[in-house]
Amino acid sequence: MIVTIPSRQEHEGIYAMTIEISDFCPICGGPRGVPIQGLSYDGNRPLNVSIWSNPCGHVDYYSRVREEYKQSVINKRSQKEVKTIIDNIETAPGTDTGYK
Ligand SMILES: [Zn+2]
Repeated sequence: MIVTIPSRQEHEGIYAMTIEISDFCPICGGPRGVPIQGLSYDGNRPLNVSIWSNPCGHVDYYSRVREEYKQSVINKRSQKEVKTIIDNIETAPGTDTGYK
């Protein structure tokens, strides 16, 4: 699901990011709640963010969602890099390594 969350704890009312995260609770694998628009307060500075409540009762914290997103970026990037590497290596039969 697509959510907007504070990109840092002290968001100063401006530091937000819109990201895609799993539709499922990281603890039990049940569906996450449907996000709606709400406010996060940093001291007294409000920031427009997504808020949601999971039907399973497990509470998502923005800090953990940020960590989850970081991990997903790392995983995606690794997969992309691996694909680039393996796509550039031809494994079809060819010449041998011996002297001629
Ligand atoms: Zn859960």
